[in-house]
Amino acid sequence: MQIKLVRSHSFEWLFLLIVFPIFIEIFLLKMIKTDVCIIGAGPSGASTSLMLSKYKVPHYIIDKATFPRDKTCGDGLILYAYKSLKELGLLERFLKHPKFIHSKKINLHLNNTLRVTFKESEKRDMVISYGKRIDFDFFLVNHLSEQYAIKEFGNAVKKIEAHPDGYMVRLKDGKEILSKVIVGADGIQSIVSRKLGQNTVDRSKVSTFISAYFKDVNGLSLKNEAEIRIVYKGIPLFFYVFPLADNQVNVTLGGNAKKIQAYNINLKEEVTTILTSHPKVVDKFKDAEQVNAWRGWGIPYQFRKQKAYGNRFLLVGDAAGLANAFYKEGVGTGMMSGIICAKKIAECIRENDFSEERLASYQKELQKEFGKLLRFSELVLRLAKFKQLFFLTVRVLKNRLERKSVGVIKRRSY
Ligand SMILES: Cc1cc2nc3c(=O)[nH]c(=O)nc-3n(C[C@H](O)[C@H](O)[C@H](O)COP(=O)(O)OP(=O)(O)OC[C@H]3O[C@@H](n4cnc5c(N)ncnc54)[C@H](O)[C@@H]3O)c2cc1C
Repeated sequence: MQIKLVRSHSFEWLFLLIVFPIFIEIFLLKMIKTDVCIIGAGPSGASTSLMLSKYKVPHYIIDKATFPRDKTCGDGLILYAYKSLKELGLLERFLKHPKFIHSKKINLHLNNTLRVTFKESEKRDMVISYGKRIDFDFFLVNHLSEQYAIKEFGNAVKKIEAHPDGYMVRLKDGKEILSKVIVGADGIQSIVSRKLGQNTVDRSKVSTFISAYFKDVNGLSLKNEAEIRIVYKGIPLFFYVFPLADNQVNVTLGGNAKKIQAYNINLKEEVTTILTSHPKVVDKFKDAEQVNAWRGWGIPYQFRKQKAYGNRFLLVGDAAGLANAFYKEGVGTGMMSGIICAKKIAECIRENDFSEERLASYQKELQKEFGKLLRFSELVLRLAKFKQLFFLTVRVLKNRLERKSVGVIKRRSY
């Protein structure tokens, strides 16, 4: 009996000697340490990474997808997209890229006779560009630094836990990244915004849109002009037709998420009605073929209602609710927020201070950059609900609006 016990103990020791180092390797060596971890490599996360690399800040960038990856979008790029590309040093390459096309004109049709046109002067190149997100997001990701950005693509973030030295980010494959500061660039359903910021999605500050590609559309403008229509179904719905480099067009329709639900609006039925019977649309689409199924997603504009920072974390783009309420620009505002975020992080690294108090100035800087425009857009959206009053206001102010927009576009783009 005595002999048996001794044998069994020595076996346990032997077992521990072999298993313990393996355990250490699997669980401890898998833990990576970094100053900055960006979650999400869409336009907002990629721009944060590109700017951090300009500041020579090594960092991790994680995305659950591998690139090229698609994203439901209207594929239009305006204002802040240009400003950001310019600041990131990518504007020239973007303009020369064969998959992106450009135009000097956006036509916003309020009804069949009332139209506001936003256009560029002879001297400047474009007011709107179009690129499928599968191509545009890949373009950005392809420019991420080999030296400063460590990419973890195809690996979703499953958990984020507080740690005395920052946050522990746990990935799907079991990897753990301990980061001093986290950037939430993970879109409208951001895990960072929900878990660290305790934010919830306010459906009264979200637009729901559906989108699909069509080919063989007739009578498209040779100059790639953007067609935007407001269609009233009790509430204003926004209908976009954006041309693309491969001769397809992106058709989108949507409006305020809460109101769409309250008015029991079926967006697929509404868009089909527009494409088959709207007097200004039907001819264009009579020979057209839909390329893919309708896809729906949300566009959040609740930035003014929530905090985009907290102890050791910052939010950018859709995670920060930074889309424009009226014309739905979310790519450009997201990219610009990434640039502002990276500058803030570079400052904080120098001071080794990632406290909530230190990061509070990020919100102020976002407010300074976007506050006025986002507030104005929400106001216009509110006015648009009152159809006749809205039409009257636009009729009266049309010329002034078209004239003034030239300066606004220049200031906020390139
Ligand atoms: C139908 C529609 C039309 C639109 N049209 C336009 C338009 O024409 N122009 C415009 O400017 N904006 C438009 N928008 C808005 C625009 O698409 C968004 O504002 C923009 O994509 C925001 O970029 P982002 O980088 O913040 O988020 P996203 O582009 O959503 O990127 C988030 C990234 O995070 C990753 N991610 C999410 N969760 C995790 C996780 N747990 N772990 C790892 N990775 C994760 C995702 O894979 C994704 O790559 C439209 C939106 C919709 C729905």
